Amino acid sequence: MAALPELHFLMVPQAAQGHIIPMVDVARLIAARGPRVTVITTPVNAARNRATVDGARRAGLPLELVELSLSGPQHGLPEGIETVDQLTGQELGMYIRFFQATWNLAGPLEEYIRALPRLLGVCLVADLCNPWTAAVCERLGIPRLVMHCPSAYFQLAVNCLTAHGVYDRVDEMEPFEVPGFPVRAVGSKATLRGFFQYPGIEKQYRDALDAEATADGLLFNTFRGIEGTFIDAYAAALGKKTWAVGRTCASSTMADDADSKAGRGKPADVDAGHIASWLDARPPASVLYVSFGSIAQLTAKQFAKLARGLEASGRPFVWAIKEAKADAAVRALLDEEGFEARVKDRALLVRGWAPQVTILSHPAVGGFLTHCGWNGALETLSLGVPTLTWPTIADQFCSEQLLVDVLGVGVRSGVKIPPPCTSPRRPRGCRWRAATWRRRSPS
Ligand code: UDP
Repeated sequence: MAALPELHFLMVPQAAQGHIIPMVDVARLIAARGPRVTVITTPVNAARNRATVDGARRAGLPLELVELSLSGPQHGLPEGIETVDQLTGQELGMYIRFFQATWNLAGPLEEYIRALPRLLGVCLVADLCNPWTAAVCERLGIPRLVMHCPSAYFQLAVNCLTAHGVYDRVDEMEPFEVPGFPVRAVGSKATLRGFFQYPGIEKQYRDALDAEATADGLLFNTFRGIEGTFIDAYAAALGKKTWAVGRTCASSTMADDADSKAGRGKPADVDAGHIASWLDARPPASVLYVSFGSIAQLTAKQFAKLARGLEASGRPFVWAIKEAKADAAVRALLDEEGFEARVKDRALLVRGWAPQVTILSHPAVGGFLTHCGWNGALETLSLGVPTLTWPTIADQFCSEQLLVDVLGVGVRSGVKIPPPCTSPRRPRGCRWRAATWRRRSPS
């Protein structure tokens, strides 16, 4: 019998923390089973994940990083902009230029794959947001899987809304019930919009749907214990082989590897040992962890109110404040206006990137005020920390419904709509044109 070809998985994540982190997790999980795995991304993202990949290599896993240059300035992007969290607060045009630049990674990707010693045994796993990989795989004749980084609940809701033409007939804030959905779910266009469902990036949205329809299978970062119904319904709707490969954070949370836990996504801006000893000094389940992930931003008013609320609560908290790096008003509130000094006996402020899984794993943490990013939701579910939910954009309102209404592991803070500053700003005169976003029939 002929020997089986060596398996080689090529992982192509979307350039956003909430997508790269689970993709690198999956890469480690696959590599731990033997196949060679290559994570392909741009230099900024490669640098952020190098320590994790090097750690896996030292542990003997056949995992590697390959860099492709984004050539952002050719597309009108400032030098060094290579990931979505660097675009926060920018107008829609900047996002469009960013997506155009990523679409142009197709050429360098094809060149890299053609230079491999053999194509037999090569399989590409692309984020749903990287549909430009489809034509490359077709030309090279290699199989391609699509990975969904949000929940199956969200993907299914968007699919049902599209299939029933709901986006075409309701106004932005008009409430509706998701038709054909396994549980009762109510939302509006503002809270239940799919990825790329913004004016100006209709082509990217259509490309994503087409690339999903032509994929050889789908991966979801979730597990059947919480989302079996939604996974099965989605697989049936698309007629696709579908695997629930999550929760991918288990590769970090379960690993007895403090360094890779602390440096997941990028090196933390605070010493993980300092956080751990601060938490060690607190009673079990007494501390609230507050984080809005890598992209979501509160308005200045919301930020100030949250600060006042945390102070008035009198309870200990750890607050990951990414805005503290670039936002002078936030720094003024923390420093000149004396917030940090007033709460310093019972609060730890992380100015930048926090070692989130290290924090959530600590027994002193008893709650997570979260924007409901799907990775954070899976981490908190895996570690048994209840949530206080404050969604802002994208799939986060769906994650809130799943955590609160379906799984009963969270309570709502009461936020009903996205704050105006968190959606990519529309160019003047640009109107919602949902009719252009119809899903084509699965092939
Ligand atoms: N994260 C982190 N430190 C931070 C902020 C976020 O480690 O200061 C991690 C978090 O653990 C999660 C990911 O970044 O794995 C964020 O993904 P999520 O889907 O929760 O939110 P997003 O940033 O995509 O909105």
